[in-house]
Amino acid sequence: MFDVLLCIHDQHDEWLVLLAALICVISTMSSVQLLRHARYLAGYAAARWICGAGVAIGFGIWATHFVAMLGYDPGVIAGFQIPATIISLMTAIAMTTMSFSTALAKPDRKGLALASVLGGGGIVAMHYIGMSALEIPADIHWNQGYVTLSLLFAVLPTGPALALAVRGRSVRSGVAAGLLMTLSIVLLHFTAMTAVRLVPAPLDLRTGILMSPGSMAAAIAAGALGLLAICIAVLAMARKARLVLHATERDMTILVKGITDCAIYMLDRDGNVANWNAGAERLKGYTATEAIGLPLAGFYTSHDRTEGLPERALALAAQTGKFSGEGFRVRRDGSRFWAHVSIEKIADENGDHIGFAKITRDMSRFKEDEDRLKAMAGHLDAALGNMHQGLCLFGPDERLLVVNGRFKEIWGLDREASLIDMTLEDVARLVLETRAHAQVSQARIDELHLLLAKPPADPTSSPVVLDLGDDLVVSMTGRAMADGGWVTTFEDITERRRSDARIAHMAMHDALTGLPNRSSFAHWIDAELEQARHFGHQLAAVMIDLDRFKEINDTRGHGAGDAALQHLSKRLLDVMAEGEVVARLGGDEFAAAKRFKDKAELANFLDRLDACFARPFGPEDNCFLLDASIGLAVFPNDAQQREQLLNNADLAMYRAKANVGERIAYYEPEMDETARARRQLSNDLRQAIDRNELTVLYQPQHGLATGELNGYEALLRWQHPTRGPVAPDEFIPIAEETGEIFRIGEWVLREACKEARTWPDGLKVAVNLSAIQLGQTEIVEIVRGILVETGLSPMRLELEITETAIIGDKLRALHLLRQIKSLGVSIAIDDFGTGYSSLDTLHSFPFDKIKIDKSFLLRSQSSAQARAIIKAVLALGQSLNVPVLAEGVETVDQLDLLKEQGCDEAQGYYFGRPGLSPSLAAAEAVRQIA
Ligand code: C2E
Ligand code: CA
Ligand code: CA
Repeated sequence: MFDVLLCIHDQHDEWLVLLAALICVISTMSSVQLLRHARYLAGYAAARWICGAGVAIGFGIWATHFVAMLGYDPGVIAGFQIPATIISLMTAIAMTTMSFSTALAKPDRKGLALASVLGGGGIVAMHYIGMSALEIPADIHWNQGYVTLSLLFAVLPTGPALALAVRGRSVRSGVAAGLLMTLSIVLLHFTAMTAVRLVPAPLDLRTGILMSPGSMAAAIAAGALGLLAICIAVLAMARKARLVLHATERDMTILVKGITDCAIYMLDRDGNVANWNAGAERLKGYTATEAIGLPLAGFYTSHDRTEGLPERALALAAQTGKFSGEGFRVRRDGSRFWAHVSIEKIADENGDHIGFAKITRDMSRFKEDEDRLKAMAGHLDAALGNMHQGLCLFGPDERLLVVNGRFKEIWGLDREASLIDMTLEDVARLVLETRAHAQVSQARIDELHLLLAKPPADPTSSPVVLDLGDDLVVSMTGRAMADGGWVTTFEDITERRRSDARIAHMAMHDALTGLPNRSSFAHWIDAELEQARHFGHQLAAVMIDLDRFKEINDTRGHGAGDAALQHLSKRLLDVMAEGEVVARLGGDEFAAAKRFKDKAELANFLDRLDACFARPFGPEDNCFLLDASIGLAVFPNDAQQREQLLNNADLAMYRAKANVGERIAYYEPEMDETARARRQLSNDLRQAIDRNELTVLYQPQHGLATGELNGYEALLRWQHPTRGPVAPDEFIPIAEETGEIFRIGEWVLREACKEARTWPDGLKVAVNLSAIQLGQTEIVEIVRGILVETGLSPMRLELEITETAIIGDKLRALHLLRQIKSLGVSIAIDDFGTGYSSLDTLHSFPFDKIKIDKSFLLRSQSSAQARAIIKAVLALGQSLNVPVLAEGVETVDQLDLLKEQGCDEAQGYYFGRPGLSPSLAAAEAVRQIA
């Protein structure tokens, strides 16, 4: 090393050495600057800048060398070979350019190693080629050691120099890179020069163009000027870049300062405010002068301060580079606002932490919106939770967005289970599997999937019903939404379905027996008639009416009656076969029907029905038989339409009922005629009073002891305009059926009372009261009213009622009779001996008279039994102390029989036929005498 220093000191002109070093520094610094600029460019632009850098340093190396050589002491340099000089320059430029592009392209260790070899090699090559250009009167002998050292000096500093040049950003690193490069050039040069030992020899001027040291100096001066030009250009460029940067920075500052909708400011390393923008002033209320120097903690709430939040935020930002969060911050006036804060750590170009950039935004409005939204979501949740219906909201991607508790409840899902974000298919699978408690088939899942899937946009889409058997029936309604999603609501209609079914069953079935009722029987018949017409078969309609079923109810109680009906229904149902039906129409009325082809089938059906009545009902020790009247009509022979068919079966049933011993009657056309005539008669009867067709005849009643007249029985007559006289036995039942009896009965009573009022005081009038009339609560008032109206003493009125009138609703009938009797009217029991003739009836009410039915007296001549009954009834009357009247006395013998037996009163043709009212008769008699 000492040799090197000696070489510099002894053999070189110091001023030229300094000049060389200066040129070297300028060139290396320029090239570093150019290289760094190339870093930000690519392609051709980058190549241009890299070449510039290569030219700068290449020329620098070359100039350094030759300036130094000009100062080389020997002073014997005769000149420079031009070609070698030029080659040395070119080599230096080429190799450094290659070195730079390698270092830029691959700034890793390998790349930099290669680049430093190339760069160092360039310096070395330039030097030794340059030395070969020397023309001196000596031979050059090289010291091998110094040559090797010069190579190392050229290559070793180049590596770090390049690394600093291409990786570093700061000015310092750039300067360091330049100096290191300078170092390698200068070290190489002087170490290589130290290796030179000159042995004088005659100057052997080689052929070729030679350049004198003077021209060389001129060339170097020109080169140096060029380098200076490059340098100036580079400086200008750097200045321009700096100006642009400053301008942008200034713009930035203005921009940042001017931003008013958020606070942007800087904190120093300790977290104190370093600057302040308009937004910060607006947001926090401090002016810049007030704010600068304030600690960050000054903007926090006291609670957050005690929690140490500001310190934590700063520490986090310092540690990770960034902190962001939300929270309440305090303004200068103490008011609070909800802030979004971000704190970013800032470092200078060397990476040293210099402070924090802080951005604060007022999020109060968003926070309020958020809070409102949260509250709304809460309300919505509550509303959804309390909904009677289940609800699912699916997004356009078929994923579940919202679901309420009721949905889970309906499907039996766990209330806590989260279904959100599940796909449509998964939801379908889950609900089905939960209901089925097992795996379900894909087909079933697909089916539900389809039902749940997006409904058509049509808002009127009707609900679909998913019936999972007895277990669950769900009604689903979908509604599409604008965003492509949809809402489906679910209603558990299992109960509704069940009660609908129950109601439907109740509507079509009889409650007591469970048999089809009248309307479902009608439906069945209608449907069967349709079929029968189509396929040409026959249909039999059967009406079944129980005989004297009332008696069962009355004597054994309603419970026993109901049980019997249920038992009978079961029997009837049990004998039914395909194409047959049995129904209960009400009370003790049943109906059955059968489709059939030949008579034998029908006969078999009737046999089966008949057999149901063959066995007794009720408990074994107290059983009873039920009898029935069965009427039958057949489609198409007897009727075409349902109503007519059932009507005709009814007519046949009435026939069966009327004819004792005939249980089953077939419909015959005459029945229809009878019924038609009856209908006609009932129509005519309605106008009978108004048309004056009714009259009352009076039949005398005589006491037997003295034979004197006691009074008359009023008997109604109808003179029909076309048919002539109609017997009361024919039209009274019709009047009872149609309810006309109320009007007619009242009319007779009034006529009779008016008539009796004209008679001598002792004579009574007996008026028949129908059972139907006794069912009328107003009857008491009617009787009282007529008595008042006609002025007849109640003592002179007797009402005749038959036993059936009392049997119907005994308590009620007796109650009414008692009220009538309390008016002073006497009550006679009519037609005694027929019907029930129970002692119980006689005991249950204090009758004023017993009327033995005329049939007994009429048969008394021939029938010992009739005579016995007459005697028994007379004895009964005597024992009960109730007077007895015998009806139908036609002969003296009959009268004698009665007298013999101690009968009190009698009535009959023997005493007189029913005739004109006695007052009219008297007037007539007077007229005839006159
Ligand atoms: P009833 O109350 O038993 O009336 C007596 C019936 O016997 C009367 O028939 C009468 O003409 C008939 N009769 C009287 N003496 C003899 C006789 O010696 N020999 C025969 N063979 N018959 C005799 P009528 O007038 O045809 O009445 C028939 C039934 O019609 C009555 O039977 C009564 O039940 C009913 N009836 C008549 N008028 C009325 C009325 O105004 N109101 C109600 N509810 N029923 C009436
Ligand atoms: Ca009577
Ligand atoms: Ca009678």
